[in-house]
Amino acid sequence: MLLLKGKPVADKIRENILSAVEDCKAKGLDLPKLAIMRAGEEPDDIAYENRIIKNCDSLGIEVKTVVVNRDIDMDEFMDILSELNQDPKIHGILVFRPLPKQLDLDVISRAVKAVKDIDCMNPINIQKVFEGDTSGILPCTPEACIEILKYYGYDLTGKNVAIVNRSMVLGKPLSMLFLLENSTVTICHSKTKDLPKVTRNADIVVTGVGRAKFFGNEYFSEQSVVVDVGINYEDGGLCGDVDFDSVSDKVSAITPVPGGVGTVTSMILLNNVIKAMKLQKKG
Ligand code: NAP
Repeated sequence: MLLLKGKPVADKIRENILSAVEDCKAKGLDLPKLAIMRAGEEPDDIAYENRIIKNCDSLGIEVKTVVVNRDIDMDEFMDILSELNQDPKIHGILVFRPLPKQLDLDVISRAVKAVKDIDCMNPINIQKVFEGDTSGILPCTPEACIEILKYYGYDLTGKNVAIVNRSMVLGKPLSMLFLLENSTVTICHSKTKDLPKVTRNADIVVTGVGRAKFFGNEYFSEQSVVVDVGINYEDGGLCGDVDFDSVSDKVSAITPVPGGVGTVTSMILLNNVIKAMKLQKKG
């Protein structure tokens, strides 16, 4: 069994970011800068923000954190977002979710300028993916799945792929990215009949149901390449959707949790600041 660790993939992306930052320094240009919008003092948000700031510091990406009261109204939130959209020194914008109830996520997602939308919230960026145009900012987790498979040398052309998830953050955009690689894609969900048969017959299986250790041996064959996107907490620890201990002896390759897709997703988010900066330069 080949363990498809995320770290070497993330390290390669990291090199790309570092070289872009060095390039800015050499040319005397502004450094890439990320703006984070956080509503309130939710501990999970603060922990996430601290991780991003630490990573940005190590990469040379500047960060501006905008913290607003959790009871902020929509108009005030939109005014601040508009300032960030217009600020030429801000290259990427990340709005932490979930947002408080009074804020309209749909409106806010559409308001994040598409070329600064590093978390792919704006439907303009999603639409591009569905049109087969990868010149914009791609959704981080789907891109991470593809990057891992490519890094480990998988030719995706003609491969049968089963994705167990039909959400807009994962299954739907990921199916489009696999189609662009000429894979044949089956999107599965909670109403799929005989799911184990569908996944067993696929060359590549992507799991994203959000249920700890849901996928046992019966879902896979000896040839299966498994990309586990699930992030679940069980008995105080982190685990994926796949029952790793029993499945890892059977399948051909598998991403671990933690240390798999999530590790790459985090680096892709920051690489999107570089991508965003380049898109803005193009005008
Ligand atoms: P979601 O919107 O709840 O989607 C879950 C999907 O799983 C749905 O399509 C659902 O089907 C399907 N599903 C649920 N139970 C099923 C079952 N018994 N059999 C077959 N399909 C089933 O969740 P999400 O936001 O896409 O996230 C999914 C998981 O990925 C979560 O664990 C999340 O933490 C993780 N995640 C990881 C990363 C990362 O970077 N690693 C990033 C984002 C999310 P229906 O549509 O029929 O309900």
